[in-house]
Amino acid sequence: MAVAASPHPQTPHADSRRRDPASRRAALAGLLNAHDADAMIVGDLVNVRYLSGFTGSNGAVLVWADTDRGHDRIATDGRYTSQVAAQAPDLEALIARDTVAVLLAEAAARRSGVRVAFEADAMTVAQYDELTSSDMPDGVALVPVRGLVEGLRETKDDDEIAAVERACALGDQALANLVDRNAIAPGRTERRVARELEWEMYSLGADAIAFETIVAAGENSAVPHHRPTDAVLAPGDFVKIDFGAVYDGYHSDMTRTFVLGEPADWQREIYEIVRTAQEAGCAALKAGAATRDVDAAAREIIVAAGYGKQYVHGLGHGVGLQIHEAPGIGAASTGTLLDGATVTVEPGIYLPGRGGVRIEDTLVVDGSGARSLTHAPRALRIL
Ligand code: ZN
Ligand code: ZN
Repeated sequence: MAVAASPHPQTPHADSRRRDPASRRAALAGLLNAHDADAMIVGDLVNVRYLSGFTGSNGAVLVWADTDRGHDRIATDGRYTSQVAAQAPDLEALIARDTVAVLLAEAAARRSGVRVAFEADAMTVAQYDELTSSDMPDGVALVPVRGLVEGLRETKDDDEIAAVERACALGDQALANLVDRNAIAPGRTERRVARELEWEMYSLGADAIAFETIVAAGENSAVPHHRPTDAVLAPGDFVKIDFGAVYDGYHSDMTRTFVLGEPADWQREIYEIVRTAQEAGCAALKAGAATRDVDAAAREIIVAAGYGKQYVHGLGHGVGLQIHEAPGIGAASTGTLLDGATVTVEPGIYLPGRGGVRIEDTLVVDGSGARSLTHAPRALRIL
């Protein structure tokens, strides 16, 4: 799935592989001093999951800057009393409807004049107003921070990489099954192909689909994020399929573009340009590489071929607990790649009224290179 820009600024941090929630909270604690904060309340539910293991729909975590993790707390409401005990056994749980308010009170009770960081990029203005107007305990100062947990999440540990890899394998296998039984063929609708692909992923063991599956045939393939319709696949069409699975909370993201019957010269031409660009982008991935340089490695091939204006999005994005997360890899990106980042590489060329091609893999940055977790063939396949 393509994305326009980096969702979060990058945060430098120690490059350690954190396997359990307590060590993730310790890593966050290590970042709080630089923001002159005594503690942080995290309410973004994806970040709550990352820092605690808890997957409920209402929750927040209080993380202290101290090295002693014994004062960290999680708050959720009464629906999740047993779930939070099972999923976050190392955290004392506070049961309350307003999770942020109860954690703020907890922080204020432990230390007077406490300075509490909060996620400026997750809290709404209305929530902030509510917090600061009525519920604010005396002596508490709020410190806005951005992207701290998202920065930690960029470096995946071995268990996270294994989950992304499993999600990628589910996608690979589901697509292979569809191809094997000629389910991507003239006479079928985009919608039917999408639903069959999703059914394959579920039946292979996916927890969920990663996002709304894109199946785009003929001129629809020139629309980067086309939604499947009742359009019927026809001979000569490009069929662009962008999809993914979720396994144990982690997402995969891949795109393959097929052609139905013998391709026209223009189809072979743009396919080979995108394929070459995609290979160059993958080859440019390594720890420490500037994300804009990775984008450029692929983009310059498409520009040199004369299709720069028909490549309308960034090269890729991080993928993990969310389908789009840090880092962004685009022409205007400012960060560098971290060892253990799982990212997509997905250049495309889109010719309005005719058709388009995108090829996308999910890879893990691994020292001086990257390893693809997507294994489906990349050469043009004629169905
Ligand atoms: Zn995709
Ligand atoms: Zn993508």
